[in-house]
Amino acid sequence: MSELKIATEVETVPDDESRGSIEAACVNQGMRMTEQRRVVARVLSESSDHPDVEEVYRRASEVDSNISISTVYRTVKLFEDAGILDRHDFRDGRARYEPVTDIHHDHLINLRTGEVTEFRSQEIEDLQKIIAEKLGFKLVDHRLELYGVPLDDKDS
Ligand SMILES: [Zn+2]
Repeated sequence: MSELKIATEVETVPDDESRGSIEAACVNQGMRMTEQRRVVARVLSESSDHPDVEEVYRRASEVDSNISISTVYRTVKLFEDAGILDRHDFRDGRARYEPVTDIHHDHLINLRTGEVTEFRSQEIEDLQKIIAEKLGFKLVDHRLELYGVPLDDKDS
């Protein structure tokens, strides 16, 4: 195991951390909200596991069995284009979505299970800012994804 010489504090993001209401964000932007758009918005607001469109469709169908996958696709795209949803590519070939959060977080992806852990580390945030500045830039955004297997994994 690699040893860090500084005390690195990593905070995981609780599943129930408030993600804000997608519906409210849509209304704020003056978006016309049909009942089916509301269903998709609610499903996404209640999901903390970065579902792909098919999973959003599955969950939305439980609420409204008349909803079609193409409606879900179009609605997710609409929310993404409006800056309400973040799209992620966690290297499993599926675009995955989460509501844009007020407080930034990064992701660790378990390569064995695909499970995603959300975390924050102020040191990483500071370090990225310093690196950008050393390269002559003011940092405005970043994405960080860690890919790993559990330390007690037998196959690694
Ligand atoms: Zn996330």
